[in-house]
Amino acid sequence: LAIAPSQFQNQQIILTAEQQHYLSRVLRLREGDRFIAMDGLGHWWLAKLEGNQAQILEPILQPNTELPVAITLMAALPKGNGFDEVVRYSTEVGVVAIVPLVSDRTLLNPSTGKLERWRRIAIEAAEQSERQIVPTILDPVPFATALSLAKDKNYICVARGDSPHLRDCLQNKDFAGSGDSPNPESRIPNPQHPSIAIAIGPEGGWTAAETEKAIASGFQPVSLGRRILRAVTAPLVALSLVAAAFED
Ligand code: SAM
Repeated sequence: LAIAPSQFQNQQIILTAEQQHYLSRVLRLREGDRFIAMDGLGHWWLAKLEGNQAQILEPILQPNTELPVAITLMAALPKGNGFDEVVRYSTEVGVVAIVPLVSDRTLLNPSTGKLERWRRIAIEAAEQSERQIVPTILDPVPFATALSLAKDKNYICVARGDSPHLRDCLQNKDFAGSGDSPNPESRIPNPQHPSIAIAIGPEGGWTAAETEKAIASGFQPVSLGRRILRAVTAPLVALSLVAAAFED
């Protein structure tokens, strides 16, 4: 169960109503039953349910399930609830941060409610896939702002044209890490992780001006193959390629 740092008080965890419901109604735990609590920063504990609280029993040393590369997904908001899937799947594949983009052709107006929902989905997906960290979901930003968040290596996925395949660009992994680890407070031993940003456009694609600005900011245009992928599918394909190239 993912617990916010503010919920820890000495050796106790103050559970929210939603967490109490999840533990007792969904997982069917009873008073005194044990469960694993995680803080999303790489720390796990064995905890014991005590009414609306839980007692921390002992720390658990989990095998590191994080990727040896810090991937940030910058994805234009698709229409409807499409971003829910983007958040869920990219968390499962292993991103450390997701930047919702408002691009020239973005159709969705991001609301605070949606942002909270995406953060909840990221927590659920991180729990489900037994990750040490919960990815950060940034507030939605205009495309130009996202370009200033560039990493060691930056790719913009372009659906048409003759860009090289992302797979081929990743074969040359000689870019050094800047020490941008998934989380500096985490105990995950990854001081040399390279950091990568992947940008994905909306249903209508990028405008020519956006692609040009991205290239001028150091983003390399890449292809994900000859087929046109949906704005929801493209992040999953791109992230899987990066994960496969780096995972040992
Ligand atoms: N009609 C749009 C166009 O021509 O760009 C298609 C946009 S596609 C539905 C949404 C986004 O997914 C694109 O902006 C791009 O970032 C990514 N994408 C989809 N298929 C791709 C491919 N084969 N190669 C690279 N990126 C792709």
